[in-house]
Amino acid sequence: MRIVLLGAPGSGKGTQGKKLSEAYGIPKISTGDALRAAVAAGTELGRKAHPLMEAGKLVPDALVYGIVQERFGHDDCKKGYILDGFPRNHAQAEELDRMLGRIGQPALEKAVHLHVDDEEIVQRLHQRAIQEGRDDDKPETIRKRIGVYNSETRPLLDYYAAQGKLVTVDGIGKLEEIYQRIVAAL
Ligand code: AMP
Repeated sequence: MRIVLLGAPGSGKGTQGKKLSEAYGIPKISTGDALRAAVAAGTELGRKAHPLMEAGKLVPDALVYGIVQERFGHDDCKKGYILDGFPRNHAQAEELDRMLGRIGQPALEKAVHLHVDDEEIVQRLHQRAIQEGRDDDKPETIRKRIGVYNSETRPLLDYYAAQGKLVTVDGIGKLEEIYQRIVAAL
């Protein structure tokens, strides 16, 4: 299974991706997790990415291409993977298609859109700010990240619809219910 999870920040991509990863025995590739790890480790990548992440902006495309391509090279990706948080804009989606061709891997099979309305997103991100203390879940940054999602990432729904790969799942409800909806849509 080779899929990408699409949805606003807080739509449940991370949670559902983890569940799918465990159930299907394939890795979840999260560029956000990789960038947070780089920030924590104080690498050059982390130093470049940190101020942009804190501001709720996307980091330059070139920084995430390296992360993804390196990850695809690991053996555990041979059976498939779940992409969470990549691609994030049109250029990244096109590069992903090219990258898979270049490294001789099959194309992406489906793009799963977790649909959650804006009001619920804002509430969930406030909750996450309290529970996890992620420094990009502050109110100003939340607004910025939702704006970036709407202008840069949402257009990918059309990109994958045009390829006949888009499935939309209602992202509101119990975790298990949403998971079953995703499995049924795959
Ligand atoms: P996430 O955990 O996916 O919400 O990502 C947290 C932050 O990392 C984002 O707000 C961006 O600053 C950065 N980031 C993660 N993935 C990407 C990506 N594919 N392209 C650019 N920036 C990204």
